[in-house]
Formats: sequence, structure tokens, C-alpha cells
Amino acid sequence: MEKVSELVTGKAKSVFSTEQNDRLVLLFRDDTSAFDGAKTEQLARKGKVNNAFNGYIMQKLEAAGIPTHFEHILNDNESIVKKLDMIPVECVVRNIAAGSICKRLGVQEGLELNPSTFEFFYKSDELHDPMINEYHIRSFGWASDDEMAKMKELTFKVNDVLKLLFSEAGMLLVDYKLEFGRYEGNVVLGDEFTPDGCRLWDKESLKKLDKDRFRQGLGDVVECYEEVARRIGLEV
Ligand code: ADP
Ligand code: UDP
Repeated sequence: MEKVSELVTGKAKSVFSTEQNDRLVLLFRDDTSAFDGAKTEQLARKGKVNNAFNGYIMQKLEAAGIPTHFEHILNDNESIVKKLDMIPVECVVRNIAAGSICKRLGVQEGLELNPSTFEFFYKSDELHDPMINEYHIRSFGWASDDEMAKMKELTFKVNDVLKLLFSEAGMLLVDYKLEFGRYEGNVVLGDEFTPDGCRLWDKESLKKLDKDRFRQGLGDVVECYEEVARRIGLEV
């Protein structure tokens, strides 16, 4: 399947139409951004690692009964996905406190959250992705009650599958962000699951192996993504 025209140029990925109306090409670029695009850099091999990583995880999720947009890997940096009508909210589950929740609620990084928390954010760089609740989603018509319930259910189901997968590879799944869209009337997982959109710590040393390496200038960003990939059994 060939790319026809570029529909969206995101901060880390580009989306292309194809000759098939309901399929897209998702291109994983080396561009890396943080703080709503305020810090950007090109990190060699990141696009390739994330494309392979995302394909592997999406297949694991699909096998566990979670509907995803992923169809197949096209080449090093590109995958074919179903074209979704994206819901403009981000779904975040946290198993351990880190990042924005520490600033917002004054809790210590590393605090175990039991039970895990769930948060919705409005996807808007200009507004810095503000946290929202179900009433906002309902009032602004971003998603129906059924769709919200489905997003929450699927996001927690992803937690069950991936906490175990990463734990078996010696890592803690601290938190992650998911995006969903509509396909033929159903809520389907879209976008990506990669170390760009989650936090993963080594179980023993608590070493950060995710995008916090870039955010916090810790170095070896792609090397750590590759280590995570290898630990879960991916050849990169
Ligand atoms: P950002 O939106 O943060 O700049 P990306 O660089 O990852 O992020 O851009 C990818 C874009 O593609 C996002 O707008 C995302 O919502 C969108 N997208 C991801 N998967 C699909 C899909 N299956 N169908 C339509 N759009 C998608
Ligand atoms: N996240 C993301 N994209 C966003 C915002 C958050 O992928 O636009 C991910 C982030 O990598 C982390 C989780 O969602 O794994 C929670 O992020 P948080 O709210 O702590 O924000 P941060 O401080 O990381 O910007």
C-alpha cells in the first residue's frame, strides 16, 4: 500500500492517506518533542525503534482482545493502520506517581497508586493539554457516555496486559497515555504505545527507560528505548 498525500504532520509522526479509503500510513519520525513542542530534537533511529515497538505492543493488545487500529508494519518507519475518527482526549493511567501528577497534587515521585488512577486530558497543544473530566467531554460533545465508558474499560485492560508484560521483562509500567477513535461505530485504540508515551522504570535500580530521559536531559534516549525493546523480546 502506497502513501498518497500527507494529512497530518504531528510532532513525532505523520499521517498519510492511501489508495484505500479506510487505511492510513503512520510514519514514525526521529523528531522528539517535550513540553508541548517547546523542546525538540532529532534522535537517530527513534522512529524505527518506535515503529517496531508499537507494532509489537499493538499485536499483543489485539491478541488480548483489545481492538486496535494496527494492521501491519510496512517498512522500517511506517505502519498501515485503520483510519479512525479520533476522539480529542488523552486517557492516562498511573500505577506510580510521576510527571504532572506530582506537580499538580504535590506528591512524591515514586508513590505507589493503589488502585491506579485514571485521568482524561483535552488534546490541545495551545492549551497545554488541560486535565478535564467526564462532564467536559459530555458538554463539548467530544464523546458519548458509552464511548467514555469504553475508553476507560479498554485503558485499564491495557494496564492488565502491559503491567505483566513489562514486569516479566524486569520493568515497572509507571504510567501511559492512550488515544482512541471510532471505526465502524466501535471505539478502537489508535495512535501509539511506545516509550515516547509511557513511563518505564527498571524494577531494581528504578532507572528511567522512557521519554523522561529526553525531558530531563539524562542522555541515551534511543539506547534505552532499544533496551526496553530487547527486554520484551524484540529484535532491534
Ligand atoms: P501529536 O498529535 O502529539 O503531534 P503525533 O506526532 O503522534 O502527535 O501525531 C499523530 C497524529 O495522528 C495525532 O494527531 C493522532 O491523533 C493521529 N492519529 C493516530 N492514529 C490515527 C488513526 N488511526 N487515524 C487517524 N488519526 C490518527
Ligand atoms: N503523555 C503523552 N503525551 C502527552 C501527555 C502525556 O504521551 O501529551 C504521557 C507521558 O509520557 C506519561 C503519561 O502520559 O507517560 C502521563 O504524563 P503526565 O501527565 O505526567 O505529563 P508530563 O509531565 O509527562 O508531560
